[in-house]
Amino acid sequence: MTTITRDDFLRMDANDPLANFRDEFFLPKGGIYLNGNSLGAMPHAAAERAKCVIEHEWAEGLIGSMNTAGWYDMPSALGRKIAPLLGAKPNEVVLTDSTGVNLFKVLSAALKIQPERRVIVMQGSNFPTNNYMAQGLIANLGRGYSIRFAEADDMMDAIDQDVAAICITHVHYKTGHILDMASITERAHAVGAAAVWDLCHSAGAMPVDLNGCNVDFAVACTYKYINAGPGAPAILFAAERHHGKYFQPLTGWFGHRAPFDFDRDYEPIGDIRQMLSGTPPTVSLSLAEIGIDILLRADMDAIREKSMRMTDLFIELVEDRCGKFGFELVSPRDAKHRGSQVSFDKDDGYPLVRALHERGVLCDFRAPSNVRFGFAPLYLRYVDVWDAVEVLYDILATGSWKASQFQVRSAVT
Ligand SMILES: *Cc1c(COP(=O)(O)O)cnc(C)c1O
Repeated sequence: MTTITRDDFLRMDANDPLANFRDEFFLPKGGIYLNGNSLGAMPHAAAERAKCVIEHEWAEGLIGSMNTAGWYDMPSALGRKIAPLLGAKPNEVVLTDSTGVNLFKVLSAALKIQPERRVIVMQGSNFPTNNYMAQGLIANLGRGYSIRFAEADDMMDAIDQDVAAICITHVHYKTGHILDMASITERAHAVGAAAVWDLCHSAGAMPVDLNGCNVDFAVACTYKYINAGPGAPAILFAAERHHGKYFQPLTGWFGHRAPFDFDRDYEPIGDIRQMLSGTPPTVSLSLAEIGIDILLRADMDAIREKSMRMTDLFIELVEDRCGKFGFELVSPRDAKHRGSQVSFDKDDGYPLVRALHERGVLCDFRAPSNVRFGFAPLYLRYVDVWDAVEVLYDILATGSWKASQFQVRSAVT
């Protein structure tokens, strides 16, 4: 039995160096938002910014805002801002398109580095869009390309001399397991393969050092731990050493050397902007900037420390209070190897998640039996960890989750 009490959690909040950030976010009243790993919360400042972009920059500034409001340069300007959070140089990052589309572009570029090789190493258990995008790419390329699926335990063995590129996710979306970016990238380079990393569950949640790990290309979404807003443009990183040499096939005019010369033929610009395909989604990018600015004011080491502590406490409490109800930890037990989320395997997880929603504890279900709790350190309190487990315990102890209304599946789980 654990001897820790709710008061201990309140004390941790009183001593939390990140505590003030919570006030900057709109959060459900009386609820506990453990879905920040799916969609980050809305910063209050985003609403004002959206109003300004729409009513001032768009309505009044019209097309002139491309220049006067900085719309034109926004994908690179925000890339420069966010680069330090990723261990990247300011000229190596843009914000554009979706994670999946960016993955298509960088994987295409990566495969060209070793044009004679035909194998891509990926994780079969990865978030599906990454694999779907790669499958679409190689179906289009033809010429014998194939994907070799590997998981954490056989990853190193899968990376051999046949591999053109690896395309791996840093923090697993279901288990939260962190892969060692430095050693896997080193292994890829040792056999001459390019290393593409997906940082969807690490960007904004923990320190990331792309250049320290020698990564070639990377992508990440911004609407999870960066709180950039639903569908916000994603991060794309290309190491400077590849600039001017890489090819990406979505050769739109924003990647052209001089878009406003309106030349007939495509000529790549040769820097990170070559990864852009077209007119940037200005409203979305403007909101993204709010989330980025908040994050830049926070200490990333403090974020990581709080995240590890919160997830440690959550695991301890759930196992102590709810272990007897058949919860099995899927996430790594050692916080060093765990992202900012905790997943449990639970039979009949879906109705349980629905019942938690009804009680204000928002978490998610990932088929077939994964109950996933995300911890966004910028706006969650330690006491939320305690309270969420209390609700979970109550639902399990009373069996209230077995009610028939919780069995019906929604389209988005
Ligand atoms: C969230 C997530 C995505 C999202 O891709 P979209 O193109 O934004 O839909 C992709 N990959 C991983 C690993 C993710 O966790």
